[in-house]
Amino acid sequence: EKKYDQGLEKSRNGFGARLNRFLANFRHVDEDFFDDLEDMLIESDVGYEMAMKLSDSLREEVRLQNAKNKQDVSNVIIEKMVNLYDEAGAGEQTTLTMADQGPTVIMFVGVNGAGKTTTIGKMAARFKGQGKRVLLAAADTFRAGATEQLEVWAQRDGVDIVTGPENSDPAAVVFDAVTKAKKDNYDVLFVDTAGRLQNKVNLMNELAKMKRILTREIPDAPHEVLLVLDATTGQNALTQAKLFKETTDVTGIVLTKLDGTARGGIVLAIRNELHLPVKFVGLGEKVSDLEEFNAQDFVYGLFK
Ligand code: GDP
Repeated sequence: EKKYDQGLEKSRNGFGARLNRFLANFRHVDEDFFDDLEDMLIESDVGYEMAMKLSDSLREEVRLQNAKNKQDVSNVIIEKMVNLYDEAGAGEQTTLTMADQGPTVIMFVGVNGAGKTTTIGKMAARFKGQGKRVLLAAADTFRAGATEQLEVWAQRDGVDIVTGPENSDPAAVVFDAVTKAKKDNYDVLFVDTAGRLQNKVNLMNELAKMKRILTREIPDAPHEVLLVLDATTGQNALTQAKLFKETTDVTGIVLTKLDGTARGGIVLAIRNELHLPVKFVGLGEKVSDLEEFNAQDFVYGLFK
């Protein structure tokens, strides 16, 4: 919870302050109230559809009609926001799927710069801290420096890594890594992948090939395919996400750089439009700045 406090400062000063300004003008619940509310939500990247859903659900809310003061209104809005987030993903699993036995394999996909490498570094440290044996696969062989960057994290975290030469076939790295993970009894294997979205067909084929290799070696692998999205890119993150969803079977989202945006409403938009659970959020550059996503902590962190 403390992490959410610190990491959401910008959004609190943006989205949160906007809500407070909106509430400061509160006289009574009328058409203008809902118009202003919708504008405020859209400005905060909640997305048009989610803004309308929230507004509609508030129109039916008796407690809002009876609200006496700003605090009453604020409480109802915040509670509805958490509920809508939860409803959008009713029954969905927000924790990571782990293998029943043998290595759990997690693939990370997303465009360059979204924060894949950093997220892997953070998550590896977290699993290592839980006493797990972690192996990294540097399967982004195309971007210059990607392997080196992951090696730095591996060293810092004290975990092992499998690499390949620059521009080599990423599938070969994946094969080496999954073979090693099985043979040497690793608990988790994290696979970093290339983030070239310019050529969708290529990317699709590449990811499919990696998945085939993983599944051949470990039948239920990959256990997760996490799409890493940069929250500071706002609605662009959504567009990217849709493309990746068409490219491969994504099982969850890691939303990075939430600390860098004043429009934290993007979390609600992602939830609503992608029907994918946000599993983790990045709240800074440090190794400890990764949190399991929790809608309640998030929304209360925004508006407290
Ligand atoms: P990749 O190309 O997807 O592997 O992206 P990187 O992991 O290299 O991250 C790109 C930049 O974003 C780096 O400077 C990271 O330090 C930074 N970054 C990643 N996650 C976060 C985060 O949650 N918050 C902040 N503030 N910066 C982040």
